[in-house]
Amino acid sequence: ERINIAIDGPAGAGKSTVARSVAEALGYIYIDTGAMYRAVTWSAREAGLNVEDDQAVTDLARELEITLAPGPDGQVVLLNGQDITDKIRSRDVNLHVSRVAANDAVRLLLVEMQRKLAADKGVVMDGRDIGSHVLPNAELKIYLTASVQERALRRFRESGDASGITLEQMEREIEERDRKDMERAISPLIRAEGAILLDSTGIPAGEVVSQIVTLGSK
Ligand code: C5P
Repeated sequence: ERINIAIDGPAGAGKSTVARSVAEALGYIYIDTGAMYRAVTWSAREAGLNVEDDQAVTDLARELEITLAPGPDGQVVLLNGQDITDKIRSRDVNLHVSRVAANDAVRLLLVEMQRKLAADKGVVMDGRDIGSHVLPNAELKIYLTASVQERALRRFRESGDASGITLEQMEREIEERDRKDMERAISPLIRAEGAILLDSTGIPAGEVVSQIVTLGSK
């Protein structure tokens, strides 16, 4: 019987890598909700909007068609048909996405999309509020974390961003983003009731994947 799996946790905990592999192992669909907040943020910045202007960002978000599609190297993100997969991982988006994610109306729009995507079960969804808010009835909830040093190092290695920031700066920016995500008024980053805590510090992704697959196959 197909179930839904919610994977939440702070930035760089390895959620997307792990969630993608779990989905592959179970023949499920992987949905990266962070990519949706990133797509709105990228689009707002591209349009020259002030991300603090909730009304303007909401109006823009309502006009966007965000599509998450499977590609050869993982999930492809399309915005009104344009491939923005790499663009949404920029430092500029990292720095502004938490503000856009604190926009209630934008959250309402994206959460509605996320719930529709999971309606038929067989979904592995990663984010911040999946187990607590988006899919509170998910049969399996994981809270995946790791030390801030390890999370910064992962992001540092995978950032194709030529912004030239140091590892220490990356660490500070990740901590700042986590703080904003945990302190926002609606649907903050929190370990949902019933969520299993997994700390991946020093643990290979494959091992975390098999733990979750085992839990999900019971
Ligand atoms: O997971 P990722 O780092 O790509 O998420 C980017 C940002 O999107 C997070 O820092 C957070 O502000 C926001 N987000 C959210 N709720 C989710 C997923 C992401 O607020 N479910």
